[in-house]
Amino acid sequence: MTSNVSAPTIREETVRRRSIAVISHPDAGKSTITEALALHAKVINEAGAVHGRGSRSGVVSDWLDIEKKRGISITSAALQFEYDGLVINLLDTPGHADFSEDTYRVLTAVDAAVMLIDSSKGLEPQTLKLFEVCRSRGVPVITFINKWDRLGKDALELCDELTERINLSPTPITWPVGRAGEMKGLLDLRDQSVTFYERAPGGATLALSETVTLDQALERFPDEVTEAMEASGLLGSHDPDTFHSLTTSPLLFGAALTNIGVAELLSVVKTIAPCPGPRELADGTPRPVDAPFSGFVFKMQAGMDKAHRDHLAFVRVCSGQFTRGMTVVQERTGRSFATKYALSVFGRDRSTMDIAFPGDVVGLVNASSLHVGDTIHATDSPGGSYPPMPHFNTEHFSTVRVKDPSKSKQFRKGIAQLEQEGVIQILVSENRGDASPILAAVGPLQFEVAAFRMEHEFHAPIIIDQLDYSIAKPASASDIAMLAGALGVEITHRRDGSAVALIRDRWRLNALTNNHPTLFSES
Ligand code: GDP
Repeated sequence: MTSNVSAPTIREETVRRRSIAVISHPDAGKSTITEALALHAKVINEAGAVHGRGSRSGVVSDWLDIEKKRGISITSAALQFEYDGLVINLLDTPGHADFSEDTYRVLTAVDAAVMLIDSSKGLEPQTLKLFEVCRSRGVPVITFINKWDRLGKDALELCDELTERINLSPTPITWPVGRAGEMKGLLDLRDQSVTFYERAPGGATLALSETVTLDQALERFPDEVTEAMEASGLLGSHDPDTFHSLTTSPLLFGAALTNIGVAELLSVVKTIAPCPGPRELADGTPRPVDAPFSGFVFKMQAGMDKAHRDHLAFVRVCSGQFTRGMTVVQERTGRSFATKYALSVFGRDRSTMDIAFPGDVVGLVNASSLHVGDTIHATDSPGGSYPPMPHFNTEHFSTVRVKDPSKSKQFRKGIAQLEQEGVIQILVSENRGDASPILAAVGPLQFEVAAFRMEHEFHAPIIIDQLDYSIAKPASASDIAMLAGALGVEITHRRDGSAVALIRDRWRLNALTNNHPTLFSES
């Protein structure tokens, strides 16, 4: 089956799509704002319906038994909802203990991100890491300062933090009337209106609000409104070019828990976040959105549970229309297969996905031959691959060896498979050799996933020993020469032959670069 919809329809459907992810540090309120966004978009009427009260599992998919047992989520879920004529795809970025390469890879599949900041904490480590990935991938960022209903930092101080620490100038869309913890309302700089709120109990319903003109607002709270106007006036205004180049970021304030500022965030997603555009193939040619169907796999979910033996490949649609049942070609192997089982995955529910357009995420079931980074396309498409998944900064390293040496063959096969799937990065050091490769991960959960799958899928239980390194740097031949004999450093290689230096910590790295100013200057 080939694409059966006209190019104008595909363009129309693409223009109304927004594919976004929320990037934040644990506890900033990502689950809460996800619910609030869905609530405003009227997918659900009560915030409690998306996930159980008091638990953060639910919106994020936890359909695998191992996840339920451990109370964590390993799955990236994509939540799709309609809003004011738009179709919004909200991709989950797993956080907490399950922070892994998947968290980063999700950012290759979105067109914009919402950076959620806790007003009392400012920029936190995980947010910084995710922001840097957005910047390196050119994914523009909208900033939402959350928890304004609680005591927090000063609004301008938070803005300075963005400018000074990540060189991102906030361009306010809304500005709080009243300090953090004493919020009266929000000044909307787009139309100079002020919305006053009354608290909603427990966030279960929308906060009661009343929107008035600036003059009326000044009559009610002259000091607070004047202060909001003066403070917001110190900052620049939104500019599409600098937004796309990640120099500026539209800034909003609110309280996800009481749904304050969430409607404004949705309207900014509508008016400012980009819709899917042409994607560049690996050779640099952009593929128009109305070309025949194509997409790439940005995440694999392998059956961690024996009874649940399926491989789910999450595909971001980049061009054309995906129709369930259509035959697609895997670009890497040239093999074609039918997509009988295609799902959209939302929380615990998997519903069948019949059609999808650029920006949408499709979960293909039993797609074990697909790997992270694979391109698939319609049989009538000219082909070509999207760029391979980049290597992300790993910070956790362990050696791995097989428990039972008679299982060496299964061990090698399993490790190679996990590497290809993108579950874990593999490095080989000359000292240790092939029999004891090094697993490199963004988050420690990746080791557990690898151990589980090696035992249950490849029948080769493994022994994992943590290594005392926290930094990996691509190393050139001259770097390797400079590092000869250095303490707290190990030179390793990827399968493609490129060298990676593992370094104990930041202090060791600083000492090394002080001694050798040109070290790592090529990377
Ligand atoms: P996540 O870890 O980023 O998904 O954070 P959650 O959404 O689970 O929120 C963490 C905690 O912060 C929960 O107790 C929420 O109820 C609370 N929270 C989230 N948003 C707000 C807010 O706007 N105001 C207040 N006061 N608490 C919030």
